[in-house]
Amino acid sequence: MTRPDLPPTQLFIDGSWTAGAGEPLVVENPTDGTRLATLHTADASDVARAVTSARRAFESGPWARMSGADRGRLIARLADLVESNAERLATLEALDVGKPYRDALAVDIALAAETFRHMAGWADKIHGSVVPVPDHMGRSRLSYTERIPLGVVGAITPWNAPTMITSWKLAPAFAAGCTVVLKPAEHAPLATQLLAELAAEAGFPAGVLNVVNGPGPVTGAALITHPDVDKLSFTGSPHTGRVIGRAAAETFTKVTLELGGKSPQIVFADADIDELAPVAALSLFANSGQTCAAGTRVLVHRSRVDEVAHALAGQAEAQRLGDPFDPRTTMGSLINAAQRDRVLSYIDAGRRGGASLVTGGSAPSRPGYFVEPTVFVGDNDMRIAREEIFGPVGTIIPFDDVDEAIRLANDTRYGLAAVIWSRDINAALAASRGLRVGAVWVNSFGAPDPRVPWGGMKASGIGRELGLSGVLANTEERLVNVVY
Ligand code: NDP
Repeated sequence: MTRPDLPPTQLFIDGSWTAGAGEPLVVENPTDGTRLATLHTADASDVARAVTSARRAFESGPWARMSGADRGRLIARLADLVESNAERLATLEALDVGKPYRDALAVDIALAAETFRHMAGWADKIHGSVVPVPDHMGRSRLSYTERIPLGVVGAITPWNAPTMITSWKLAPAFAAGCTVVLKPAEHAPLATQLLAELAAEAGFPAGVLNVVNGPGPVTGAALITHPDVDKLSFTGSPHTGRVIGRAAAETFTKVTLELGGKSPQIVFADADIDELAPVAALSLFANSGQTCAAGTRVLVHRSRVDEVAHALAGQAEAQRLGDPFDPRTTMGSLINAAQRDRVLSYIDAGRRGGASLVTGGSAPSRPGYFVEPTVFVGDNDMRIAREEIFGPVGTIIPFDDVDEAIRLANDTRYGLAAVIWSRDINAALAASRGLRVGAVWVNSFGAPDPRVPWGGMKASGIGRELGLSGVLANTEERLVNVVY
């Protein structure tokens, strides 16, 4: 491909691109290990500047006075700009993450635009309610609630789907009237730089969005401990989620945490294997398995295990690994060498733990951080079935009856999503009621839609993003009593 049109490399603070005092950040192309760009990073003083700007924009200036309708217009303009710049955003996303360009365009960028478009519509529809209450001290009382914006939101994003997940944080925060300081993942920050440029072009006032790149333990740590941040919105690992939860407890900062999963796909005895195979494989291998909702534990009725293993092996072997810009490529690389080595170590643990390898299991000998799509047959106690691998590795786990399937599905510390495959809708719905997860798919699987809530139970997180729940998570409820 031709040299990409790279976005600015500085920090975006108070409506301007500005130098950062942190160590320079080299951004690498994970499909060949070459350098894509070198970015400025923020130290604690840069983060403090960004928070001050966000606070000022929240409390005074045009954003603070703007009606919900006008905020909605701005967010809709950003949706338009994401659409009109979709190819450039998708190019940066594909380069940065190593995912197929076609997927970046059709899924990540399309859903980011859709999220801004949907949330634009909420901006003038956020309201409280009038509550019937008894008279007070012999006089009439009117009690009503208002939904007010929380204030300054500190958003921290991961590298697997940067533009989409960033839109999940920005769009509802803006709809609610909050301002944002965003720390993107250091491994894939480029598309977010362009998004900041587009927000400025859309006309967001200075300080409403600030972008501070840098490493989690430096830039992220400064953001999560800053006393003037009202809410932290995080997607990433449970480990970092815990660090953020602890920091938030010190300052009573609100949190939304989306922390990944080890999601089950339950294949009942009556399931249509031909129909489910491509979608089950998509759930396992999309984005090279680097998705939080990946259905990596494929729980299969014992009578169908061989068929499912055969079908998933066929799907895995049909994947074409390679250059994200080659239209024949269906799977890209992992994000970096550390993640590839981590995934390979899990594959090794699967082999050594007694799981039987159905297909895959190696890294192809080519530049970049690729791992073959891999399927095991194992059991739910194995490490590969208990820990989030975040790579293209699935484990088929046999079960004998529905109760066992539900018990196994819930026998995990996570609770993000689940898929049920069955021709019997009544049986599927009955099973769904037993699952301790935030989202259930029956007979399909896909990326979260901005209209519906997204988030998990147990170690998969706290709170919901997207849908009305995601908007309200950026607000506080205020009660007003009028005695007359
Ligand atoms: P992390 O949780 O480490 O990273 C997510 C974000 O948090 C990044 O922006 C990171 O910064 C930042 N961060 C890291 N440490 C801190 C800190 N002390 N304070 C504030 N921010 C911090 O995830 P990884 O990228 O290391 O991925 C590891 C695992 O996490 C994956 O293998 C997967 O299991 C899970 N994960 C889940 C995702 C999901 O969608 N739920 C997405 C990504 C990962 P930095 O830029 O330095 O990385």
